[in-house]
Amino acid sequence: MSNYEIFKPQTVKEASDLLKNDGYMPLAGGTDMVVKIKNGFFKNLKAVVYVGNLPFNKIINENNKVIIGSGCTMEEIATNPIIKENYPTLVEAANTVGATQIRHMATIGGNVGNSSPAGDSIPALYSLDAQVLITNGTSQRTVDIKDFFTGPGRNVLQLGELIEAFVLPLRKTTGRFMKLGERSALAISKINLALSTWEDGKKHYRVALGSVAPTVLRSKKAEEILENAAHPLTEEVIQKASEAARETADPITDIRSTKAYRKQMAGVLLRKALEK
Ligand SMILES: Cc1cc2nc3c(=O)[nH]c(=O)nc-3n(C[C@H](O)[C@H](O)[C@H](O)COP(=O)(O)OP(=O)(O)OC[C@H]3O[C@@H](n4cnc5c(N)ncnc54)[C@H](O)[C@@H]3O)c2cc1C
Repeated sequence: MSNYEIFKPQTVKEASDLLKNDGYMPLAGGTDMVVKIKNGFFKNLKAVVYVGNLPFNKIINENNKVIIGSGCTMEEIATNPIIKENYPTLVEAANTVGATQIRHMATIGGNVGNSSPAGDSIPALYSLDAQVLITNGTSQRTVDIKDFFTGPGRNVLQLGELIEAFVLPLRKTTGRFMKLGERSALAISKINLALSTWEDGKKHYRVALGSVAPTVLRSKKAEEILENAAHPLTEEVIQKASEAARETADPITDIRSTKAYRKQMAGVLLRKALEK
């Protein structure tokens, strides 16, 4: 393991100033970071900046928006009354992250900050039209979740910037999160899918797929087919939407799965989510 310093700043400004240094990285629950540090993944790591003392751990409902602090753990998200009431897809996604011990440590900010296309909260956030609230200690900016990732493990954060929160439109959605791993639980996804729907006179659908491309993708074609269909959905519509999801997927073969399997499963997962 490399030698590195540990800082525990008490304010966002202090954390942000530290993170302007080359080789300094944020640490939240540490469930990704510690594994990577132990495996020597970071060649230039000089210090970790613990962000767990920062005021990023609240879930609030404000001005028709729900703000989820980046420091909220998967367990806090899965059991929060506002999230349970409005965003079942996110509850299901949070509940599939690792085992109980991991869910008590793993934060949503860390899941997004890690920027893996297999991160389970990410398709759920796409399906809920989330925005990422970014701070540098003195000012904030927001970025649509779909514009946050620039590739596997990469994102738009600049030196000194932190994810402060995720901002979701307040709407009562229904939905499902589906995941295929080596086992049905406690495994990194081979492929995952989030489906969220809501009504405002019209029925809206969001379909987001993970582990099928360098970043999570929305299947806009599948969404369009579902939004233009009469309800209840017919077998023909479900079949067309599933085919569209399969066409959207552009996966690779890696140690967890093959391209052909992932592509096929994109359609299967959407069908299952729609039929539940
Ligand atoms: C046994 C095990 C099982 C797992 N199972 C799953 C699973 O089923 N599904 C899944 O998606 N993941 C899984 N993971 C991965 C991990 O638990 C999640 O990605 C978790 O959400 C990371 O959160 P963390 O708080 O631990 O992040 P950390 O490890 O502290 O940080 C992760 C990354 O995010 C950055 N970061 C942290 N906070 C911020 C912030 N506020 N702003 C900017 N960047 C930040 C860090 O610098 C780092 O790059 C598993 C891990 C383990 C060890």
